[in-house]
Amino acid sequence: HQMSSKQKSFKKSLDDPLQFIKGAGPKRVMLLKKLQIESVADALYFLPFRYDDRSQVKKIAELVPGEMVSFTGKVIDAGTIRMGRNRKLFEAVVQDDSGFIRVKWFHFNESYMAGKIKLGNERIFSGKPTQNKRDGGLEMIHPDTDTGSGDDSSTESLDIGRIVPVYRSTEGLHLKALRTIMKNVVDGYNHLVEEFLPEEILNRYKFPKRSSAIQLAHFPPADTSIDLLENFQHPAQRRLIFEEFFLIQLALAFKKRHQQITERGRAFKTRGEIIRNFFKLLLFDLTGAQKRVLGEIMTYLEKEEPMNLLLQGDVGTGKTVVALTALLTAVDNDCQAALMAPTELLAEQHFLNIRPFCSALGITIELATSTGTAKEKSLIRDRISDGTTQIVVGTHALIQKKMEFSNLGLAVVDEQHRFGVLQREAIGKKGLVPHVLIMTATPIPRSLALTLYGDMNVSFLDEFPPGRKDIETRLFYENKRDNAYHLLGKETEQGRQAFVVCPLIEESEAIDLKAAIDVFEELQNQRFPDLKVQLIHGKLKKEERQQIMADFKEGKIDILVATTVIEVGIDIPNASVMLIEHAERFGLAQLHQLRGRIGRGTHASYCFLIACHALTNDGKARLNAIVKSRDGFAIAEEDLRIRGPGDFMGTRQSGMPLLRVANLLRDIKLLELSRLEAFALIEKDPQLELPENAKLKTMLHQTLGDQMGLMKII
Ligand code: ADP
Ligand code: MG
Repeated sequence: HQMSSKQKSFKKSLDDPLQFIKGAGPKRVMLLKKLQIESVADALYFLPFRYDDRSQVKKIAELVPGEMVSFTGKVIDAGTIRMGRNRKLFEAVVQDDSGFIRVKWFHFNESYMAGKIKLGNERIFSGKPTQNKRDGGLEMIHPDTDTGSGDDSSTESLDIGRIVPVYRSTEGLHLKALRTIMKNVVDGYNHLVEEFLPEEILNRYKFPKRSSAIQLAHFPPADTSIDLLENFQHPAQRRLIFEEFFLIQLALAFKKRHQQITERGRAFKTRGEIIRNFFKLLLFDLTGAQKRVLGEIMTYLEKEEPMNLLLQGDVGTGKTVVALTALLTAVDNDCQAALMAPTELLAEQHFLNIRPFCSALGITIELATSTGTAKEKSLIRDRISDGTTQIVVGTHALIQKKMEFSNLGLAVVDEQHRFGVLQREAIGKKGLVPHVLIMTATPIPRSLALTLYGDMNVSFLDEFPPGRKDIETRLFYENKRDNAYHLLGKETEQGRQAFVVCPLIEESEAIDLKAAIDVFEELQNQRFPDLKVQLIHGKLKKEERQQIMADFKEGKIDILVATTVIEVGIDIPNASVMLIEHAERFGLAQLHQLRGRIGRGTHASYCFLIACHALTNDGKARLNAIVKSRDGFAIAEEDLRIRGPGDFMGTRQSGMPLLRVANLLRDIKLLELSRLEAFALIEKDPQLELPENAKLKTMLHQTLGDQMGLMKII
């Protein structure tokens, strides 16, 4: 036993937990855990987000207003000064052999300051001197200060006389302590950090070696350009950012390549009879973008290699026609086709929209959701497994184990953002490998698409059908609610229809429903007694929901009060108002989706956001983004900015690694560079067998093997 603990202390590893690090006691280890730093390796990749330049050290007499500087001096006077009843300041006079200066704190803890700034003590101060407005004397407000004098060169100060790293910290963990821990980690372990990037790439981009990059990023030497550092443009930082992206892109390239080699699907004949007949049934001409995207899809479908395509198109660009054409192409090739939607209501709507085309073309179609009796569901499954059903529209029910297709040739996944990456893989497991088309509900920023879906091909539907009408979006605070209702009433007077959407607020569905019922009753009984108001929510039976939607579509209902069940996919061209209760509770993507329900017909439309509570900064930013823009891509970027990429990648999408160093908004150029390099490398060395790529292969396996499902294939 003794032997093994001794060995432990001798053989260091980057996987060592932080409790081995000097300065990291049990309490700090807990706090570090909050920052997702558990091992030495985690700490090495926890880079400063900012740097303070305290490398300039001067004599007091040499200080210049506005110039960032550090100096050493003796405290010759110190204490609290009261200014009026509530205001006070802590002031000290500091002297060196060239002169003296006042230093001041307006926000401080009195006993803490008194303990720190003591008469006669020699201290280091750091900050920007300013000129006092009244007497013109030089002073420094809220300087950083540290013990010790400049001459005491035996201990190296981490906080002064250098470019000082500033880390994101957490409550209870002082930056000073964090810096010390980081210093001990870097000094004690950085020599273990091995290079794994190919020599060629290091040379091409003049990247420093991995360990020197880590060293520099944490503790830059005094002559480092602070400008480069602060903009994450220093070669050391660029290298670390590149390496993180590069591994992910390599994994994606590897996966894509692997699919190309191992997966076989069916090569379809395209533009067959069914498709020609279908286009005759359409009441409109396809947009240029729809034609282009369909051309791209046909090219993929004609190959034996299964299609794996992400279709990005903003709300209302007409993705459904594109999807239906793909489904029908499969049927034309004697295959089954499936369309999967995230909610029952959307699946039902798709089913109802598509069914008339199928009847006209003599194609059998089925709706498979989780509602219905066990008997009904089992009958539907039978018809799917024996091949009677040609097109299936459904929800998650489609990828459940019990469901078996006789001959699935193509699957379309609509409104992808509700499905995790794992589910995307699951649908491919039915039958032979089917062609897969994933359609996004809300566009995702390019950087995110390259990272989350980098192993797929991407097409863009970037044109709206003609006659798209303006949507005016307005924010009303609770006390101005009447104005919103007034405007809504003016629209219904003209024969238009309105959605009123209530969010999920409480944990309990029953309470949410109660809130929606309250809104419904107030609208029907108080505000609009002469209009037909109807409530729709997720608890209703399928038949009731379908009836209500049919009635709304036929104009028998003026105002439809809904819980968020209507979020996606509903198509009611005569609806010109979308009023959103508690708009502050919705995410940006959701708001954009909801607004996408209107402006679909020939009428100008209105989106009214009712903010019911004091808004947080994020809430304000979200609502402003929606008021300002209708462009899904711009909104998606804003969403990424407000929420941060972690939220997209960590909680919403399973199966993706978190980025520790790289930032999807800031580092898009490096992302694209890393992608080019990674795909080129896999092209050259598909199995990573060349000796110069051996380290890379090990690294890929260690870091992403589990998360990105590479274990089986590398
Ligand atoms: P989304 O991309 O949001 O799923 P939809 O497929 O629901 O959009 O289409 C939005 C509306 O535009 C529907 O009413 C649809 O019938 C109509 N539409 C689609 N393509 C065209 C077109 N080329 N010309 C005119 N209207 C179109
Ligand atoms: Mg749609």
